[in-house]
Amino acid sequence: MSLNAVKGTHDIYAEEAKCYQYIKNVFQAVAELYGYMPIETPILEHTEVFCRSTGEGSDVVRKEMYTFLDKGERSLTLRPEITAGVARAIVENKMLFNFDSPLKLYYVGPAFRYERPQLGRYRQFIQAGVENIGVDNAYADAETIALAMRVLNYLGFKGLKVKVNTLGDKASRDAYREALKKYFEPLLPNMCDDCKSRYELNPLRILDCKVKEDQELVKNAPKSKDFLSEEAEDRFYKTLSILSDEGIDYEIDDTLVRGLDYYGHIVFEVSGEEYGALLGGGHYDNMLHNFGAKAEVDSGVGFAFGIERIYSLMKDKGLFDNIDKGLDIYVMPLSEDLIEHGYILSEQLRGLGYSVESPYKAAKLGSLFKKANRRKAKVALIFGEDEINNGKIQVKILDREEQIEADLSTLDHTLNDIFNAIDSDDGCCCGDECEGDDCCCGHHHDHEEGHGEHCCGHHHDHEEGHEGHCCCGHHHKDDGDN
Ligand code: AMP
Repeated sequence: MSLNAVKGTHDIYAEEAKCYQYIKNVFQAVAELYGYMPIETPILEHTEVFCRSTGEGSDVVRKEMYTFLDKGERSLTLRPEITAGVARAIVENKMLFNFDSPLKLYYVGPAFRYERPQLGRYRQFIQAGVENIGVDNAYADAETIALAMRVLNYLGFKGLKVKVNTLGDKASRDAYREALKKYFEPLLPNMCDDCKSRYELNPLRILDCKVKEDQELVKNAPKSKDFLSEEAEDRFYKTLSILSDEGIDYEIDDTLVRGLDYYGHIVFEVSGEEYGALLGGGHYDNMLHNFGAKAEVDSGVGFAFGIERIYSLMKDKGLFDNIDKGLDIYVMPLSEDLIEHGYILSEQLRGLGYSVESPYKAAKLGSLFKKANRRKAKVALIFGEDEINNGKIQVKILDREEQIEADLSTLDHTLNDIFNAIDSDDGCCCGDECEGDDCCCGHHHDHEEGHGEHCCGHHHDHEEGHEGHCCCGHHHKDDGDN
């Protein structure tokens, strides 16, 4: 029996966990800009949820699910994707009746697929995504793509392109499916076993086959655009014209079908030359009907991305380099008797919004500086008996090697001045001048008037002159008048 992590799973901690958190925060903030609400559904669902919704024709359901019988002999599955559970939850909780339509929901959480673990492919991974449900409209499709692009832009990805295709409405898809069957029938004996079962279950999925020889055959297969009803075609071109007007760079890729069975109308994938595919999604129909609901408009549109993939690309491209701003303050009491002073001072400073660490036991100054350095602390507060008796404290700005003696009674003002100066030197964490603008770091910069709206989606109203760490992990400086 092994006590190591299960094959294909991984631990996420420290710096990496911070980066994951950052990605989630930017995603959440952007989703909320578009009016989305969070949803969390159970990781465990009845297996039937995925068979009905994700689709028995998909590789995910056919080959990759973690399915088992529980002690009550129920067939349960660790979710391989999150949309199906969200659809189940919407119906079960009558959300379409309790909330205005469209219902806009976003999620972040683990998903499980029994795949061969390889670079960037795990058996447990984290998916983040949105579902805009109860809507069948070109604007909703375009808005979802715009949201996806904004998330990736704010994370720092450049030169992105959206590949789009349309699978049309039901009539278009039925006609297309028949044409594909006709085309592939004579070729099938020379195709892979997966394609043979895809042919029976969902021939559209053959277009997504990764086997080289099969891909050659796919090249000459009929194209979905030739089977579109007039309505479906108009709908597709309407979405594309909205994207063009917004300046979103797209390209039609008529082999794009996406991996899951529920898609119809537009499907899309965002990629960049330097990165490959980053995110995918599309429009779907009849999702709620699978769970017994008779919704007026049983359609929706959404996308999902894997946090692991986004993380590793961002790491490779140095997109996290400016994100970890380190600790604000390292408190350095010079003797065991002063540990309690250090503790109380740290708590007061945390109350003002600074991130602070102080030792629980006395240590040599050299070792405290080493620790402060490793924690990327900006300021050290050093004090011995003499300072405390005189109501003073030594304030050292670490990367400038500057040290001043400050009055303890006005330490908050001194620190405020110091951090204002540090922050104005630093500029924005993205390294750009970006006042009053949406910046690639995910911040909305509007410092001119002293109002800061931040990437975590919170508006920070700090007490006069104070600044603080925001839940996104950034240190935000406000000008003191908001
Ligand atoms: P899908 O649900 O197949 O459309 O996948 C959505 C996103 O989840 C993809 O863009 C991938 O980044 C991510 N993803 C899917 N499978 C895995 C996996 N086994 N390991 C890591 N990420 C995955």
